[in-house]
Amino acid sequence: MTSNDTIAPHGGTLVELLAGPEDAEGLKREAANLPKVVVNQRELSDLEMLTVGALSPLTGFQGEKDYHSILDTMHLESGLAWAIPVTLSLDEDEVKRIGGAEAVALLSRDGGEPLAIVQVSEIFKRDRQKEALGVFGTEDLEHPGVRALHDAGDYCLAGPVRSIRLPRHRAFTTYRLTPAETRAAFHERGWRTVVGFQTRNPIHRAHEYIQKCALEIVDGLLVHPLMGATKGDDVPADIRMQCYEALFGGYYPKDRAMISIFPAAMRYAGPKEAIWHAICRKNYGCTHFIVGRDHAGVGTYYGTYDAQKIFEEFEPDELGITPLMFEHSFWCNACEGMASPKTCPHGEETRVSLSGTKVREMLRGGERPPIEFSRPEVADILIAAMREA
Ligand SMILES: [Zn+2]
Repeated sequence: MTSNDTIAPHGGTLVELLAGPEDAEGLKREAANLPKVVVNQRELSDLEMLTVGALSPLTGFQGEKDYHSILDTMHLESGLAWAIPVTLSLDEDEVKRIGGAEAVALLSRDGGEPLAIVQVSEIFKRDRQKEALGVFGTEDLEHPGVRALHDAGDYCLAGPVRSIRLPRHRAFTTYRLTPAETRAAFHERGWRTVVGFQTRNPIHRAHEYIQKCALEIVDGLLVHPLMGATKGDDVPADIRMQCYEALFGGYYPKDRAMISIFPAAMRYAGPKEAIWHAICRKNYGCTHFIVGRDHAGVGTYYGTYDAQKIFEEFEPDELGITPLMFEHSFWCNACEGMASPKTCPHGEETRVSLSGTKVREMLRGGERPPIEFSRPEVADILIAAMREA
């Protein structure tokens, strides 16, 4: 870390696992003779995150001791804070096929050159019940994260990763900055303090307001939309990206705000994922992180403020990144501005608030929500997308 950096990576070292062009050729030759494992979509995202250092200090898929330590204590065996195990699943047939191999090659489902080689340090049986309760707080198969865990293999393969290439992305390649690149971008802009904003939705006025409240106290804002796998009824990535571009084009100062893609897949683990998201954003160079109500939640599995309260379970220097907690916000006709229950003394009747269901209904009918709720440019993109769908 130089004095120009915003914050040290988690654990102190920014990991980069991608081989240079020459080494990559050697790894490809090596991979040709190794047992192959095809990764699922979530693992593909995790592999990309490992490769670029978003999961620093991890250098590979985690072993059994860390796995249990994280589920039991929210810390790695080394004592470093960590909220969700990063594992590579195998089913029984794959375990047999791998046998005693020292290494395996990872392949993408859509083919192409191998992605990486994992040196096998151990293969262990996962404790599905403990993992479901420890990560998601429930064993309900209706929960998308529990469902994914249920469908995953019984075993986990652990070991250090050497990456041959990143997954291919066809869209938004200019927005795919690695942690080293966002750090360089912050440095270039002269930002010493940066707030990160996680989102998997289009941004309406309420979240714009929260971001700008946070930006008032730091140098820069990183809007960091999650672009790995989400559940089927979330707004598709390309539509969201158009919304972010429209918003940035009209309402965000270019020298104070930037968009970059967060390649993670959603786990919908609520509070645990809020911690995980914060640690990842620290690796991207953010000093602050916005935690809203029901962060990374789904359905009614988590309490409204659980994702904020969980930060109290750590000493502040354990995480390093500073969480900024926000209430839900809205336009208030009496205040004549954006506000929250913290800042507005008026009642519900003066507040412009719409349920998600109501907003979708309006958009589907070709109707813009009120300008106090949604920027017209964003509303028009969503209306057009619904018409095509
Ligand atoms: Zn008010």
